[in-house]
Parts: sequence; C-alpha cells; structure tokens
Amino acid sequence: MSLINTLNYEEVLGLQFQSGVRGLANMEVYMYYVDGLLIDTGQPKARQSVLQETSKLDIDQVIITHHHEDHSGNAPFIKDQHTCPIYASKPCVELMKAPPKISPVQRLTWGDRPANKELIALEKNEIKTPNHTFTIIPVPGHAADMIALHEPERKWLFSADLFINSYISYFIYNESIIAQMESLRRVLSLDFKVMFCAHNPKLETPRASLEKKLNYLESSYEQVRQLYEKGLDEHSIIKALNWKEMWLVRLASKGQLSRKNMIRAILRDLKASGE
Ligand SMILES: [Zn+2]
Repeated sequence: MSLINTLNYEEVLGLQFQSGVRGLANMEVYMYYVDGLLIDTGQPKARQSVLQETSKLDIDQVIITHHHEDHSGNAPFIKDQHTCPIYASKPCVELMKAPPKISPVQRLTWGDRPANKELIALEKNEIKTPNHTFTIIPVPGHAADMIALHEPERKWLFSADLFINSYISYFIYNESIIAQMESLRRVLSLDFKVMFCAHNPKLETPRASLEKKLNYLESSYEQVRQLYEKGLDEHSIIKALNWKEMWLVRLASKGQLSRKNMIRAILRDLKASGE
C-alpha cells in the first residue's frame, strides 16, 4: 500500500502506488503531475501514501481520466488537501454521482470509493496550466467516460487506461471493443513521442505499442466475427477459440473481469452493428 516508483520525464512527474493482495492481485497505478496539474488520484487502498506524496506537491487543479476506483479513488481527499477544483469529462461526472458497484477482487485490490458529487465537468476540449495547453481526447472503450490528454507542443500523451498492455488477458464486463479500436485509431492519428499510461508508461516506442494493441484487438474481433457468421453461439465460440481463461480473476471478480467478457464484448458489438 505504498509508493513504489517515481518517474521523471522532462517536467512530468509520475508517482506509482501499489496495493492489493499478494498472490491474488497486486496492482500498481501511476498518477501524473505537471505544472500544477494532477492527472488522476490513485487507489483508495493507497490513500495514506498518496496523500503523503500529494502534500509535497503544489497542486492547483486535478483531472480524473475515468471513473474507475484506481483513478478516482482519492479525489475528495486531494480536493480537501489543496482546496482545488477536480475536473472530469461530463460522462465521468454523471457516473461518479452514483458509481457502479465494484467486485470483491477490485475491492481487495484497489478499495472502494464513495460517490462524488463535487466533480466539475470540462466545458472545453482543453485544460490549461501556466505553461501548457492539453487537448482532451475522448477515448471510450475500456470505460465509456474515459479521456486522454495530449500536449501537442511537447508531444506528451497521457493515455489513462487506453493502452495498459499490447495484449489484454481479461475484459471488464461492460467494455466495448469497437469503441476501444476507434479510440486507439484516434490517438494514433496524434503526434506524440511518449505515452504516460496509468499502468505501463512507454517512454520509448509508444506508437508501436499502441499499434500492436490495435492489431491484437482487430484480429481477436475478426476471429470471433468469422465464427459468429458461421452461426456459432457464444458457448461454441469460446470452445472453438480455446482462449486461456483467467480463472482466479474471473471467480474472484464474480465474472466482472474475464477472458469470456472479451468474446461477449465482441459479440455485443457485432450484434449492435448489425453484422
Ligand atoms: Zn480503468
């Protein structure tokens, strides 16, 4: 439940916090700080350590990239500590008024967070600091309300949970794969040289990492689509693909996180697009 790594890149400071249960899920998450702006607030389970670190920073404003507990978890406490506004996308502000219930494994790993009715919806598609202007890029998919921040002059990309990894072994029950692929393409059209991912920063070759992820999602989608078009149902597709399930995660999350959810997400998107 503590700070485990510090990242320094140009004017950007990254602070990585760890929490969780050893052997089951040990998870790390970064928050970033640049020019008075704090991007995300860490997981509730690391609160003490998070607040200890944020007390050392001169924070004028905070932005939350999406409603997940490892990003939004300490917002009210940092607001009290610095008497600063906390911004989020409009959908995030709405979601946080009554955030969706989290699974037992998420509670153990990250900790739960209460509703937050004090978030301020971003009115423009940018957020300014004394020395930088960040463009807000909607990147739904992993979460419907997710945004990324792009600093075009410095070519910094704060990608929230758009990347995480080139291969994803489980999906959250309500993710959209089509939206995720579109978000990846949208971000790949930007000019950036470094990617501050909340779980896996890529200071080198960020573009290749994102392209690899897009290819992986596209080929997974294609595999499922072909079987679906042959008339196979969900159960038969799962059997035919023989993708390795993350059983511990799936059971501990009561099915909220699983490999099966990825197939379900593809089928949902295929049906919605009328293919
Ligand atoms: Zn997330």
